[in-house]
Amino acid sequence: MMPVVALVGRPNVGKSTLFNRLTRTRDALVADFPGLTRDRKYGQARVGELEYIVVDTGGIDGSEQGIELKMAAQSLAAIDEADVVLFMVDARAGLTSADQAIAAHLRRCQKKTLLVANKTDGIDADAAVGEFYQLGLGDIYQIAAAHGRGVLSLLETALAPQLERLAGDTGGEERPDEENADGEQGDEHEFDDASLEEAMAMIDELAEEEAIPFEDAPIKLAIVGRPNVGKSTLTNRILGEERVVVYDMPGTTRDSVYIPMQRDEQDYILIDTAGVRRRGKVHEAVEKFSVIKTLKAIEDANVVLLVLDAREGISDQDLSLLGFVLNAGRSIVLAVNKWDGLSQDVRDDIKRELDRRLGFIDFARLHFISALHGSGVGNLFESVKEAYASATKRVSTSMLTRIMQMAQDDHQPPLVRGRRVKLKYAHAGGYNPPRIIVHGNQVKDLPDSYKRYLINYFRRSLQIVGSPIRVEFQEGD
Ligand code: GDP
Ligand code: GDP
Repeated sequence: MMPVVALVGRPNVGKSTLFNRLTRTRDALVADFPGLTRDRKYGQARVGELEYIVVDTGGIDGSEQGIELKMAAQSLAAIDEADVVLFMVDARAGLTSADQAIAAHLRRCQKKTLLVANKTDGIDADAAVGEFYQLGLGDIYQIAAAHGRGVLSLLETALAPQLERLAGDTGGEERPDEENADGEQGDEHEFDDASLEEAMAMIDELAEEEAIPFEDAPIKLAIVGRPNVGKSTLTNRILGEERVVVYDMPGTTRDSVYIPMQRDEQDYILIDTAGVRRRGKVHEAVEKFSVIKTLKAIEDANVVLLVLDAREGISDQDLSLLGFVLNAGRSIVLAVNKWDGLSQDVRDDIKRELDRRLGFIDFARLHFISALHGSGVGNLFESVKEAYASATKRVSTSMLTRIMQMAQDDHQPPLVRGRRVKLKYAHAGGYNPPRIIVHGNQVKDLPDSYKRYLINYFRRSLQIVGSPIRVEFQEGD
């Protein structure tokens, strides 16, 4: 599971600066959801091979009264859900009473907390940070978030157990080239459909010969989306139609509910982020929708069903969630809910808007449904199965190499420094999402447009629907 790092501290200590350095800002999910404070931000970051979630908890203003209350309202949830808290103080400003109040709270929380003194650039840092030892939080990590100094080693320390676990699981690998979720254009290489058809025919043939059986583990399906898009209604609808045995997996109240179910002889585990089981009981808006819960559910799922609200259009938060799903390498099915009772004109408008804003994810299936009336809900499962099958498709080296060869025959890779880039062979590097490793000469120098062309060629010839694909390039044999 992705670890969560929370940035805590009074305003102006440099939390946003550190947040922006750790995440790529475009991934930031700003929590202006109803019931949550406006300034909480969530982002994805990475140290080495380890991906994690960063939460900027927003400022806690210590000069105000009742800091405990404020903290409870604002940052407590984030601290509660975090694996590590980075408690930031300002080395230039020195120790303040707000720092002390926050420290007192953190000591009580018994959460793994690192005390971070920021803005140590251009000052005698060792002398400046001395007074912060009074906070009783142990070692002080000196950083300059604005310049990046000390940031990497801080995160390596903060996430040391998780990094060790990961190192045990896998050897060090390079970051794959990912499909661009920005909707960046510039694909100069048009497909030759005849060649693609030939590739697909060849694949069918080979697939039959090689027929690698599918494992029939349950598909973990997470139903996610902004508040009020209809997740609970949809989950109830799905469960109402099925015989289900509901049980609670161990976890905290902030965890999603895992519900096993079967449909058309396929086993599923529904990851319910809306908390249907707790419906009817008193719960706060904050409890009902938790961004971290959503991100963890995405991470834990095989396939994510992202629910959108036809009446609200696509919001930046929808796009951020989508970005998280793709970054996490999860398969996706999109459901535009509340499709009932809309005039044809309105429906046409919505479809145009979806085309425009979701063009970059044209490899995912899009369904128009009404969770309330049940229309379109049954069809979702075909797409979920298809996305899962795409993500776990077994493809042999010979097949991948032949597809790569055909793509190369259609469009030669460009010359780089007077020498032609040569692709030699390709093999699978993993599944869920599919990873393809391409070996060749000077492949690191391939322009992005050619990489995109190859990724698309693989996608279309292998008929990967609903799943991201990652292609990595390796020099030589
Ligand atoms: P936040 O309110 O905790 O999110 O703080 P910000 O990230 O907005 O930073 C507050 C101010 O401190 C800004 O003017 C930053 O440019 C400045 N700042 C942040 N990090 C550093 C640093 O490492 N060195 C210095 N000199 N200034 C910094
Ligand atoms: P959640 O916060 O995503 O779990 O959303 P809910 O399932 O609680 O639904 C929010 C509101 O939208 C409720 O008032 C639902 O009755 C309504 N709603 C959900 N699905 C539909 C639908 O398909 N059509 C219409 N018209 N309303 C819906």
